[in-house]
Amino acid sequence: MPDIIKLLPENIANQIAAGEVVQRPASVVKELLENSIDAGSAVIRLIIKNAGKALIQVVDNGCGMSETDARMSFERHATSKIQNLADLYQIHTLGFRGEALASIAAVAEVELKTKRAIDETGTCIVADNSEIIKQEACSSPDGTSISVKNLFYNVPARKNFLKSNSIETRHIVDEFVRVSLANPAIHFTMFNENEEVYHLRPGSLHQRIVSLFGRKYDEVLVPIEEKTDIITIKGFIGKPDAARKIRGDQYFFANNRFIKNAYLNHAVNGAYEELLPADAYPFYAIFMELSPSGIDINVHPTKTEIKFVDEKMIYAIMRSSVRKSLNQYHIAPALSFDEEMSIRIQEPSTQNRESLRTSQQSTRLSSEYPGDFLKNSQKATPEQWNELYKILEDANSSTHEKREDAEELAGMDDTEQKPVVQLHLKYIVTSIRSGMIIVHQQLAHERILYEKYLDAIDSPGNYSQKLLFPEVMELSAADYNLVTEILPEINSLGFDLEPFGKNAYMINGMPADMHDPASKNILEQIVEDYKNTAGAEKYSKNEKLALAFAKNTAIKIGKPLAYNEMTRLIDELFACKTPYFSPEGRPALITISSDELDKKFRK
Ligand code: ADP
Ligand code: MG
Repeated sequence: MPDIIKLLPENIANQIAAGEVVQRPASVVKELLENSIDAGSAVIRLIIKNAGKALIQVVDNGCGMSETDARMSFERHATSKIQNLADLYQIHTLGFRGEALASIAAVAEVELKTKRAIDETGTCIVADNSEIIKQEACSSPDGTSISVKNLFYNVPARKNFLKSNSIETRHIVDEFVRVSLANPAIHFTMFNENEEVYHLRPGSLHQRIVSLFGRKYDEVLVPIEEKTDIITIKGFIGKPDAARKIRGDQYFFANNRFIKNAYLNHAVNGAYEELLPADAYPFYAIFMELSPSGIDINVHPTKTEIKFVDEKMIYAIMRSSVRKSLNQYHIAPALSFDEEMSIRIQEPSTQNRESLRTSQQSTRLSSEYPGDFLKNSQKATPEQWNELYKILEDANSSTHEKREDAEELAGMDDTEQKPVVQLHLKYIVTSIRSGMIIVHQQLAHERILYEKYLDAIDSPGNYSQKLLFPEVMELSAADYNLVTEILPEINSLGFDLEPFGKNAYMINGMPADMHDPASKNILEQIVEDYKNTAGAEKYSKNEKLALAFAKNTAIKIGKPLAYNEMTRLIDELFACKTPYFSPEGRPALITISSDELDKKFRK
């Protein structure tokens, strides 16, 4: 058999690569404008015909290219912007892949005219279908002009995929607006079908926003500025009354590159909380400067999403600086950066100071003893001890004596130390007059939490605590539907989940007794357990959910418990309706009577 693997011809390889870079006319516009900016241009002109399908031309007065560079610029992976791996992590230009011109030339006819200021004559190159079909010296002003004609003429599948002229033109305008917004010192013009549609003189960012979006923005812009060790934030946000009903003019830039970031968008919107109705979107053009090592820049060429290393920190800084600006302009109630960083805001917002304090208290308590926050309403009473006793009695066919023991135990003075011992970090052993009980700490706590969560689902309380750093939980489509189905119940247990794009939820708050770094993990695990509850018919929806919550939040075996934690656990277990069993039916405690002990010792 002959060998069958062959290298692809270059034009096909380029065309495949082009599929990544050039998705529509607007992608070409973006690449060409960015090249002109990287070339240090002061004036850039964009010319469009037939929504970019017939012609996209960008003319600049930047550094231009030598004859050799002009030829090289069409090669794949040919770039003047980085030379080694280290450069990649210190990137300060918009381009760096060296793919754009090669890709564009693979799917269109490209004419390049360029001249450096130091050269007498310029260079003209025509490329078509990845082939240089003409190269000659020509007269040219300083700078570069690139014309891209008949885009996708040789890739019919792509061409058919293009949308109507109005849609493609809108994409082009979007790119033009983003790029010109990020570079207010550059003089930009845009012509569509020979008509000048934008004329943007160089000026301040404020002036650029007004010339792009209209005079009315003159009064609604509020500056935003924050400088920290990891990030510098600058730009403008809109006053609340200028917010719009459609999500539109919201722009983030990271190191002058337009980005989309739903997480930070949530931070900005959150800072406007109570100042805006839920369906209104504030204007913003926010520029973040941070060390290139603080972001993952090496993303897909056409993707505008980027990852921040310190995402949560940046979220907090973003939120507080927007808040600060709104505040400075007397638009929002004060909330200082320090406060925002150090406090965890309590839910619900209507709570008065007093209850705020108590809920903070319960948070503190609960961190040493999960589940405590639900305790208030369920203090162990002697009656409940009696109930426990009854159950014990039924289970162990015990004697009249036991009842008295249980009553005595219940009524015991708090200050008197009962012997309570933890064995093997798993069992809690304590005595009753008629003998002893051994409690399984995990199964017992599951029981306690299970009953409390069941109660909480029925009567939602104020057990939610807002997260300072909301977290995004991404789910599979099936899990997303499942969470949506049980959302009211999850929220009534103290989570505060909000749909967040496709198959994701934003976790804004969580039960006051959970620790926030774990919120997402716990919730994911709960969803998983909820799905997998064995013997599902046996449990109602609420029971399944309470079970999943209880199992994931209960004290585990292996956890050392302090004396008061153990007594509280026993107290709470005895306050349960069914203390004898874990929610899944395993024994939560066993008793050994004095008689049994005596028998063992043959007494
Ligand atoms: P990249 O921008 O990633 O380097 P491109 O394919 O977009 O890759 O461009 C290749 C090279 O061509 C650039 O590195 C640059 O040296 C040169 N070049 C492209 N456009 C221009 C321009 N408008 N002015 C000057 N040089 C340019
Ligand atoms: Mg480029």
